[in-house]
Amino acid sequence: MTTVQPEIYIGGSFWRPVEFTTVIEPATGRPLGEGPCATETDIDDAVAAARSAPALQWRSCPPAERAAVLKRFSAALRERSAQTATLVTRENGMPITLSRLVNGIFPAALVRYYAGLVEGFSPEEVRPALAGHTLVRREPVGVVAAITPWNYPQALAVMKIAPALAAGCSVILKAAPETSLDALAFAYAAAEVGLPAGVLNIVPGGAAAGAHLVGHPGVDKVAFTGSTAAGRAIGETCGRLIRPVTLELGGKSAAIILDDADLTDTVNGLRSASFVNNGQTCHLSSRILVPRFRYPEFVDAIADLASSLTVGDPLDEATDIGPLVSERQRERVLDYIAIGRNSGAKLVAGGGVPDDQPSGWFVQPTVFADVDNADRIAQEEIFGPVLTITPYDDDDNAVAIANGSAFGLAGTVWSTDVERATDIARRIRTGSIGVNGYELDMRSPFGGVKDSGIGRELGPEGLAAYEVTKSIYRF
Ligand code: NAD
Repeated sequence: MTTVQPEIYIGGSFWRPVEFTTVIEPATGRPLGEGPCATETDIDDAVAAARSAPALQWRSCPPAERAAVLKRFSAALRERSAQTATLVTRENGMPITLSRLVNGIFPAALVRYYAGLVEGFSPEEVRPALAGHTLVRREPVGVVAAITPWNYPQALAVMKIAPALAAGCSVILKAAPETSLDALAFAYAAAEVGLPAGVLNIVPGGAAAGAHLVGHPGVDKVAFTGSTAAGRAIGETCGRLIRPVTLELGGKSAAIILDDADLTDTVNGLRSASFVNNGQTCHLSSRILVPRFRYPEFVDAIADLASSLTVGDPLDEATDIGPLVSERQRERVLDYIAIGRNSGAKLVAGGGVPDDQPSGWFVQPTVFADVDNADRIAQEEIFGPVLTITPYDDDDNAVAIANGSAFGLAGTVWSTDVERATDIARRIRTGSIGVNGYELDMRSPFGGVKDSGIGRELGPEGLAAYEVTKSIYRF
């Protein structure tokens, strides 16, 4: 059991909520602890705190002062990063080696990055006009509702919190119930460094609490990461309210292996690009496209890769694949494996629950070959360690298959010729794409097109998402 108190953080104080949710450790299937579960009243209180006088002062605080507080906030996050990384691994089954990077080091680094970006920032720019001149001001958008999923809970939260606070906004984080405990790491760090009361509020809870927050009259902007289905509902509400919204949604990205790709290097690269975080990653290269004349060697090598991955305790450093987050998620993934078995595809690795994992929500790394791109397992996001392999004839055919998806989040191109691979990458309709690897870059924008979302996070573009411009025409 964990020793983290199931609290919510509103207006600079910790409160015991009236409702709780049991957080289950996916590696064991046993309770990890009681997590806070915010009610609509808690959400109302959090919005009121985010609009209170001390929180509003943060908006007018000079950027250099905000940056100084954020640097202390970054250090406080860094201080507790090992603890946070372990807690997330216990909540969602993420392999600890990955958790240390994305839930431990990354949040502190990103807060520091945005502090640096606004440190010498001048909010007003003078532009000559036809008559007189114009002051173009960048102002904070206001109160931000940040809603996050369980798969990368700290990273996806800080991708909203860091730029929003740097821009001068106040934030209400509605974290997912599965990872309701680690969300408090932000509250502990905020309290420790004296972030003004109400500037950051942490209220983990369920979908109903999230929906209440999205439509709350006191919210000025919504930043959401999660499923396309929930994103659509949130987008509809925001459309009706004319409320700015950023949606980071699902994906079904392609790995295009070009005919000159090196077998060993490519398959080593797919270990991360296609299986990272037990397959519970939105930007996963889960549809692998292989040139027909190299098809047999790549199918064998990818099947061998899947079979060689170590499935087990996510707290063990040797583990490649931990459990899925919940029993429900495992059922969903097993259902897709059954759909694959009943299609014309050929199962070449995995296909079920590992025999040596009697408890917890484990699934074997699974690969289907000979998959038609129109099949459900190639079109729908499975969100587990399940890959499809589809043969293609030439580069144009590969590009057409890669773009033959309702999603448009990410992808990869693998080749010994980086320029040729980059030309192919330019033709893929996604918000990001990797050449011979895939890793988010905090200085560059990340996000989707088509059903994968609207707007960008990270980089200067991620800061602009929390600003509105105002033009003051002066004569
Ligand atoms: P989900 O959409 O069910 O839940 C995500 C969050 O939204 C949770 O906090 C949930 O409580 C809340 N929520 C759900 N319905 C809501 C509603 N109607 N109004 C307000 N809040 C609501 O997603 P999930 O299944 O928990 O997470 C997995 C999904 O997230 C996958 O589809 C994955 O691709 C996506 N994802 C996208 C990115 C990205 O950056 N594009 C990153 C990670 C995960």
